[in-house]
Amino acid sequence: MAKCKATNATGQPCQAQAIKGSEFCFTHDAPSAAARQAARKRGGLRRRVGHVGNLTNLPEQVKTIDDVLKVLNYALKESLPLENSVQRGRLIVAICGAFVDAIKTGELENRLAAIESALKAREG
Ligand SMILES: [Zn+2]
Repeated sequence: MAKCKATNATGQPCQAQAIKGSEFCFTHDAPSAAARQAARKRGGLRRRVGHVGNLTNLPEQVKTIDDVLKVLNYALKESLPLENSVQRGRLIVAICGAFVDAIKTGELENRLAAIESALKAREG
């Protein structure tokens, strides 16, 4: 196969192979413009990640630790399928940190409630 007859942005001859039935490569072949656009669109769509988390599980308002945990579960489900990156890694670590805080706070609240009810039982 022959090389593409077009020149690139720096004025050098394009090094790509010409496509079948053309003197130009896929990038420089004018009749291929629609196919190029479709390929770009497919690439863009593939990168986009749909929703994974279930919005119906989210509370109307966040008022309790349980509500916080539901939001964190949603956030984690939404971030896991994202394209692997430093930002994604940081996000997941941050969500895990928020889980630890919420779980600790929830455990403290439960223990406090248990102590309070034990004291009430003793008084009553
Ligand atoms: Zn070319």
